[in-house]
Amino acid sequence: MKANKIWGFCAVSLLGFSACNTSTDSTANNDSATTESVIITNKKSGFSADNAYQNIASQLDFGFRIPGTPSHKKCADWLFGQLKNQCDTSYFQVGQSKNPTTGAAIPIYNIIGSINPKATKRMIFAAHWDSRPMADQDDNNPKEPILAANDGASGVGVILELARLLHTQKPEWGVDFILFDAEDLGIAEIENSFCLGSQYWGQNPHTPNYKANFGVLLDMVGGKDAKFMWEANSNQYANWILVHTWQIAKELGHDNHFQLQNIGAITDDHKYVYEATKIPMIDIIQYNESTGFAPYWHTHDDNLDAVDKNTLQAVGNTLLHLIFNPPATL
Ligand SMILES: [Zn+2]
Repeated sequence: MKANKIWGFCAVSLLGFSACNTSTDSTANNDSATTESVIITNKKSGFSADNAYQNIASQLDFGFRIPGTPSHKKCADWLFGQLKNQCDTSYFQVGQSKNPTTGAAIPIYNIIGSINPKATKRMIFAAHWDSRPMADQDDNNPKEPILAANDGASGVGVILELARLLHTQKPEWGVDFILFDAEDLGIAEIENSFCLGSQYWGQNPHTPNYKANFGVLLDMVGGKDAKFMWEANSNQYANWILVHTWQIAKELGHDNHFQLQNIGAITDDHKYVYEATKIPMIDIIQYNESTGFAPYWHTHDDNLDAVDKNTLQAVGNTLLHLIFNPPATL
């Protein structure tokens, strides 16, 4: 993904429903965040950060997951097996695209698992599972690939653990887990060269006339002390999901990670999903206006040492409660 527009900091609150770009206050205004509207009525336990972490390690065991390589296909098959075991219906979507830098044809494997496939109210949880083929932010060996423990595998690790839980605890809503391929082959200079898997899925959803009420994208959700803020595209597409999700995180005591602060727009899979389908979708992503992405982003340091179980627990626990406490107005 790439950060493509930087806005000034501004304060947000759970009762303030729109982004602003002129405030000079960089501190979130938490005063009104709201003891009056408690969202969690259905408390759930069981999300295991240990399992999520192990799911990340298992992906890294395949090596680099670069589209068009044998280890990429082996990991795809493994991911499909995981979702197939836990979900009611699963899909292995095969598409084609082009490597943005070499022009070579590459396969795209989007891997999807559905819980309650007949439910009309649906939510999506998505992450990208491919790994970046170059460490372009690293001074050492910038042309060599990265393991991408946080940038990709962390979101998938959380999703696989959520799928395990939903296998035995069925929610009222339908839940679709979508693992997008080929998110991270892009280069900033070439328009639309990131997010090839979600671009393909947007044009070719896994079922005809697919609909969902909203979606949540997870990207880089395992970094130590990660702060997640209100990304501008998410705020534009789906402010009400940000409000709802950040309130759940607050009620669970995870507001050290989920902070009430706006950040600029990031081009990520949620943008292409929204543009193609109008499904409102947010991006939970570690980003800071002054320091950018985490220091190990697109470097060789994005390995298991970059992943912290406390962050995985905060994200996974918040999303588990979102699944069982969806917005009441829907
Ligand atoms: Zn990346």
